[in-house]
Amino acid sequence: MKKIARPLLLPLILLGSSYFFILPYIGTAGGTFRKAFPYLPYIVFAIGIMLSFRFNVSRSFHILILMLLGYYGYTLFLQPARGDISSKIVFGALSILLPLNIAFFSVLKERGILTGHGIARIMFILLQVGFIFRLLTVQDALLYSNISRDFISLPALSIGPLSQAATGAALLSAIIVSLTMIAKRTPIENGFFGLLLALILACSFYSRENFFTLFVAMGGLILCLGIVQKSHDMAYRDELTGLPGRRALNERLLMLGRDYAIAMLDIDHFKRFNDTYGHDIGDQVLKMVASRIRLVTGGGKPYRYGGEEFTVIFPKKEVASILTHLESLRVDIEGYSVAIRGKDRPKKSEKGKIQRGSKKTGHRVSVTISIGVAERSDETGTPEAVIKSADEALYRAKKKGRNCVSK
Ligand code: GH3
Ligand code: MG
Ligand code: MG
Repeated sequence: MKKIARPLLLPLILLGSSYFFILPYIGTAGGTFRKAFPYLPYIVFAIGIMLSFRFNVSRSFHILILMLLGYYGYTLFLQPARGDISSKIVFGALSILLPLNIAFFSVLKERGILTGHGIARIMFILLQVGFIFRLLTVQDALLYSNISRDFISLPALSIGPLSQAATGAALLSAIIVSLTMIAKRTPIENGFFGLLLALILACSFYSRENFFTLFVAMGGLILCLGIVQKSHDMAYRDELTGLPGRRALNERLLMLGRDYAIAMLDIDHFKRFNDTYGHDIGDQVLKMVASRIRLVTGGGKPYRYGGEEFTVIFPKKEVASILTHLESLRVDIEGYSVAIRGKDRPKKSEKGKIQRGSKKTGHRVSVTISIGVAERSDETGTPEAVIKSADEALYRAKKKGRNCVSK
């Protein structure tokens, strides 16, 4: 629940405070601010486009280009809303095409910006711009009335000025983006969700002064923050396991107080496991082990130290009080197994090679871990010395026959 609620928090705070604190202020602000304000979305989108380019996130790059074009259309035709066919066509594009495009681009795979795929996606965007341009020159009233008519004769199905087609597009896009957000769980997906929410609200209240401009700018800002968060994760989080990595560990070590204990964990006979089942199943098992270590009790903070080794830091703790927590973690991992998917199963010749430290039951595999633990003392004054001492304890655990905790 926490994982689903967290991505909603940033959009709610930013959009809520925009509505309550910024929107009323714009009306009373000085002339310079009021003159500069309409350029705000361009600035935010441009920053987002540059960030996306720098970090090679093609999906946000393309979505922000679409937003920029959409906002340009808004400034040309809807500020103020005139109610003629042209402005209705542009509003249709903003409220129907734009949300659907966000959903469409959000489910695509990352395929680069200056690549064949990237160029094809730009073409797809230009095609839609061409289509809108054509509608504007033809001023096809019949087509417009077809898009904006009520498909179902229930007025309640339209949100504010949104046509039923736009309401449908908003709901469909919101469902698609929410599902990808839950499935992929990356800051970029959270950003898409926030942007989509901001855009739907912006369209729903577009005739209110400054509302559209402020909300699309905030949507762009939410996506920018997602891109920044992603680049932070790239530096601090281990991609395979999702645990904080070595860089995060090193920073945490500098902030430890006087008392703490450190545990070093190492998967038993993992080299042989890889040789038997292959690197891909090895990776799956590594992920499983990391997901169990993440649940360690006793106030432990887990990190991937490197390879198949993990570090758990226990601030303000001593060895005696954490041994039971580490012991239950060891037992938990011993009893946990991973199902091997059909295509990953070992080849015939490899079958039956059951290793010590890993066992295979049916199409499930499991591993064990050894743990060494040490605390800060007068001899081990620095975190590095405590880690070294925990490493020596780990070596003793391996010597003792593995699958045990040693201090
Ligand atoms: P021990 O019980 O003494 O720890 O034996 P071990 O085989 O686990 O120890 P060793 O340190 O010699 O080997 C570690 C192996 O872990 C080497 C490598 O094949 C495997 N390994 C390290 N990182 C990864 C990874 O990211 N994915 C996979 N699949 N294997 C990894
Ligand atoms: Mg090792
Ligand atoms: Mg090992």
